[in-house]
This record gives sequence, structure tokens and C-alpha cells, in this order.
Amino acid sequence: MSDAYQPDDGTGTDPATANTDPDVSADEYDPVEVFPTEGMDLRPGADSCYKCSTCDTECPVAEVNDEFPGPKFQGPEQWRLKRNEDTDIDDSVMKCSNCMRCDNVCPSSVPLSQMHNTARGLYVEERMDTLSVEYVRNRILSNYRTSAWLASKLPRTANVAMNFGPARWLMERTFGITAEREFPAFATQTFREWWTERGGARVPNHEKRVAYFHGCYSNYNTPEVGKALVRVFEHFGYQVLVPEQGCSGTPMFANGMLSDAKRHAETNVEGLVEAIGDGADVIASCTSCSMALRQEYPELFDLHGIEELAAHTYEALEYLRIHEDLEGALRESEVDPQSFAYHAPCHARNQGLATQAVELFDSIDGVTATDVGDSCSGISGTYGWKAENYDVSMAIGEEMFEHMADDEAEVGMTECPTCAMQMNHGTGYEIRHPLQVLEAALC
Ligand code: SF4
Ligand code: SF4
Repeated sequence: MSDAYQPDDGTGTDPATANTDPDVSADEYDPVEVFPTEGMDLRPGADSCYKCSTCDTECPVAEVNDEFPGPKFQGPEQWRLKRNEDTDIDDSVMKCSNCMRCDNVCPSSVPLSQMHNTARGLYVEERMDTLSVEYVRNRILSNYRTSAWLASKLPRTANVAMNFGPARWLMERTFGITAEREFPAFATQTFREWWTERGGARVPNHEKRVAYFHGCYSNYNTPEVGKALVRVFEHFGYQVLVPEQGCSGTPMFANGMLSDAKRHAETNVEGLVEAIGDGADVIASCTSCSMALRQEYPELFDLHGIEELAAHTYEALEYLRIHEDLEGALRESEVDPQSFAYHAPCHARNQGLATQAVELFDSIDGVTATDVGDSCSGISGTYGWKAENYDVSMAIGEEMFEHMADDEAEVGMTECPTCAMQMNHGTGYEIRHPLQVLEAALC
């Protein structure tokens, strides 16, 4: 267990008495003061919540599942109870999909996501039987990189085996991995294999460097997204670095596997901070990966260089819009007329990036990108792969599916690979990443 999420913060502050002055209103609290980063004890910080319930109204799981108590309970109320009575973490925290929509809307800046992730970590450590089927299933799902690495050794065989009907039935019966979804195909050549084969970066440039955090999915399943990123950034004269890296930890946070997440974070922080020292900024093609590097890492772990990494991390499109005249370059480009039904992932919303793709593609002649609404796609990484969550996941996604069907476009677009899975699963549409559209327009 990481020191970063020990209930005892070790600062000498008595959590039972800290921040409870009734004369101090919630909006006078500075969240940085309330949650000292040394020990990250969240129990005193629960007092910042003034119970407005805004977070509950934003929660997609609570909207469709009456049994889920919602983020206000999962976060501040649970930490208050823990402070006052030292109660166990409630098992409903495992029903939170970690979409982080609640985190974005709290007017009192209560760090809901940090509270939920920390609570899940404690729940798994203190209350889950490590021999239980649920624990083993969650461990396998959250360590997707390990399964994907194995599958990448024999991708064609894995693709057949993973979608073989009786095997899927058995996986659902034994492990509770839904048989309703089709497993995504593994690429016959990973992004990293392609990168090595091409000889790495083709543009040397000490002045403009980016370190690409490709994550697991772009490496093992959709290397075309990583290739598009490399070609687009090289088009703008960047030297692309591809440091050693593990999983971002996103599926591990969602499953309370914080020790696994910390192990990967150590690898990632070390490699990426070294690249920052070589003059690079860090870019990710997946909005959940950039979210992890920028927000979840510093919230949960105390690692050397972690704040520097957070300050230098960007989502790829965001980075280009800040540093290049992307709209200008696109105005001069020629593309075949095409329309996209665009879904902004919840983690893109949390980073203030919900409108960037639609704004950008509106500047290309012949391209139309329509936002299909602000609802959650419902899959939330591993959440919608669990048999017990499948119906809830599809009920959450219903609004997005309907908006996609109403739009004239028959191709979807999003930055998140699991949202793409859900969009395809609910509509049958082909889904592209914005970087692939940029590549077609510019390269
Ligand atoms: S939005 Fe913030 S202040 Fe309002 S109930 Fe939720 S945690 Fe409390
Ligand atoms: S992270 Fe998402 S599912 Fe979890 S409590 Fe917040 S809004 Fe609800």
C-alpha cells in the first residue's frame, strides 16, 4: 500500500478536530491547505462539502441505478463517517465507474475523484478477498497491458480465441466478463514494433520535442492512432520521443488496484521526467492517459518529479492548438467531404477539452463534426466489461446512441478508446480518432 493513501497522514494533525470550525464557511477553505499533500488524509477535507448535491445530479451511474448512493456519499460523507466512527469503506464504491464527472462540477472544489480512488484502494486492501473471483477478475481487467502483451505475441490466434463463442460464455460464467461485447482486435504489429522498424524519429529537432505517452491501447490495438500522432507532429517539425512506459494506471484506479498503479506510475514518471529534462513536453493520444498523468498521479502518489510531469503533460490536440496555427494549416488542406458524430469523453471534459475537436474540424472545408451531446458513453474503461454492469453501462450510453443515430454522420469520432468501443457497440459505426482525421488532412 502506498504511503500516499494511508489514513494516518503522519503530519501530527488530529483528523478528529481539524477544519471543523463552524465559523469558517466552506468557500474559505483552500483545498491545498485542507488536503496536505504529504499524507493526503482526506477525512478532515470532507468538511468542505456543503451538501448541495450538484455532484449527485451529474453522476451517470446514479441516474440509471437507484441502488448507487452517488458521489456525495462516496466522497465526503464516507470520509466524515470514517473520521467520526472509523467505519469500513462502503462496498458501493466499487460501483462508481470513475468517469470523474462529479469531480468537475463541485462548487466547493472537494476532490471527489481523489476521495473515490483512495476509498477504492482501501476497500480492495481491507475488504476484498484476494482469492475471490471478483478480485481476480478485476485484477485481470485492470492489468490489461499484461493480457495485451501476451496476446500481441500471437495476435491472430488471440483475436480468434478471444471472440470464440464458447470461450466467451465460459469467461462470463467463471469471471463475470460480459459476453455481450466483442473483444477489440489486437494489431499484428504493435506501435512500438512499428516505431523500431522505422528507425524512430525522422525529424531531429532540439528546439521542438514531444515525448509520446501512447498507453496500452494505441500500442497493442490501434497503432494507427499512434502512427497518425507521429506523422502529424513531424509535419509540424517536432522530434517525437517514445520513452519506456507502462500503463497509465487508469483501469487500476477504477478497480482500486493502487499498488499496481503505483508500480506503473514509477516507470512512467521516471521515463517521462527524463524526456522533460531533454527538452520535451509530454503528449498523450488518450484523454484518460493525460488525465492520469496530470491529475490522478499527483493526487495519489508521492513520487519525485510527479508535479513536473503533471505541469508538462497535454492531450495531443490540445498541445497542437496551443503551440501551432492548426486552424491555419487545416484551412489550406484538402480533404474528401466527410461528417463525424463526435463524442467528448468524460475525461476530456474534466480537462476542459470537450469542445476542441468540434471547433477544430469546423475549420476544414468539407468536414462536419457534430457534438452528440454531453452524456457519458457509459463504458468507463473496464466498468462496462463487467457482466454485472453491462445493462447499466448500456442504459447510460442510450442518450449518446440516440444522438448518434439522429445525426446525419455515420462515422463516429472520439479521443477515448473505450468510448470508441461503446460507440461502435451501440451503433455499429466505424469510429476514428481526431488525429487520424488530422493525418488525412495534413500528411
Ligand atoms: S458538489 Fe461538492 S459541495 Fe456539493 S454535495 Fe457534492 S461534494 Fe458536496
Ligand atoms: S466518478 Fe462518475 S460514477 Fe463515480 S461517483 Fe463520480 S460521477 Fe458517479
